[in-house]
Amino acid sequence: MMRRLRRHLGWKLFLSYLIVILVGTVVLASAAEFMVPQAFERHMAAMAAAMGDTASELEVDLFTNFRNAVNEALALAALAAFLVAVVVSLFVSRRIVAPVREMMVASQRIAEGHYHERVNVPGGPVRDELDELARLAVSFNQMAAKLEQMEATRRELIGNVAHELRTPLAAIKGSMEGLIDGVLPAEAPTFQRIYREADRLQRLVTDLQELSRVEAGAFALNVRPVSARDLVGAAVARLGHQFEEKGITLETDVPADLPPVLADEDRIGQVLLNLVGNALQYTPAGGQVRVTARRRGAKVHISVSDTGIGIAAEHLPFIFTRFYRVDKSRSRVGGGSGIGLTIAEHLVEAHGGRIWAESPGPAQGSTFTFTLPIAKRSEHP
Ligand code: ADP
Repeated sequence: MMRRLRRHLGWKLFLSYLIVILVGTVVLASAAEFMVPQAFERHMAAMAAAMGDTASELEVDLFTNFRNAVNEALALAALAAFLVAVVVSLFVSRRIVAPVREMMVASQRIAEGHYHERVNVPGGPVRDELDELARLAVSFNQMAAKLEQMEATRRELIGNVAHELRTPLAAIKGSMEGLIDGVLPAEAPTFQRIYREADRLQRLVTDLQELSRVEAGAFALNVRPVSARDLVGAAVARLGHQFEEKGITLETDVPADLPPVLADEDRIGQVLLNLVGNALQYTPAGGQVRVTARRRGAKVHISVSDTGIGIAAEHLPFIFTRFYRVDKSRSRVGGGSGIGLTIAEHLVEAHGGRIWAESPGPAQGSTFTFTLPIAKRSEHP
């Protein structure tokens, strides 16, 4: 019995009603026992004074009758209250305990890995009218949906990583087998091919590490006022000679009077290197790449535009998704794995900025823009 009581909310509710009824009955009974006789006697004394002897004979009978009537009424009230308590606790138990139990079962199922599990939301579809229990059910379902989505992402990530590792590993293994069997000559081009694939593997692993760090938000930003001109200048200086080699013009347009932005120089440098590096990669020889910075309200917009292969409208919404590549069959020797823009997006958002891509269409170039907050006057160096 005690065990049952401890484990069931319905029984606890019923018992609390019972206690209230019991206390009420005891109070009423004691009132009837101690207070009523005195009041009765006072009235009878007044009556005796008025009526004479006949009153005292009547008194005994009247008092017993009255007392019996009070006790009967009390017993009846207690019984009625008991029945009401049973009905009410059944009703409340159905309204409260049933949804709680449903959530308990669902959370156990989720813990076992059934992430599609959801609970019914008690009450109507109007959100404003939901009680705490219904809101708890709504939050529960949101949590379950989030877990389901995270699980799907985790599976997809493992699949993607395995896929990305397979290609360079197969190439390395193939070349090594060729060398062992004597089919491939043990010459510089063979070793260079192996080296390039190993290099690609290494870059992939570095990118993955970086991706997991930025996705977990596990990096510290050393934000301070920096000039956009310096940020752009550093990226351009690092990649300048590669543009020359490929025969692409690289121009910058950053007004000298632009106010300093609030940024972590290294992190934003990384974003710029990625965008300018992509522009270099996706622009054929003879093309142009332009890096511009402009003030727009409380932000500075930094854009990297190219005259390269462009991006079709149907791909634009996805290019910041990890591992997403427009041309999946493209030989990626020297190319990336579709992680760079995902990392860039996380870094820009950590600065309180936004990043997006625009392109009129394939072969018509693209523009990548990100925003950074302008440093307040008090923050200037
Ligand atoms: P990757 O390392 O493959 O370049 P990113 O995350 O940097 O990965 O870019 C994702 C995809 O977006 C690229 O594979 C490419 O299809 C597209 N993309 C990025 N930059 C450009 C650009 N400047 N011009 C055309 N397509 C681009």
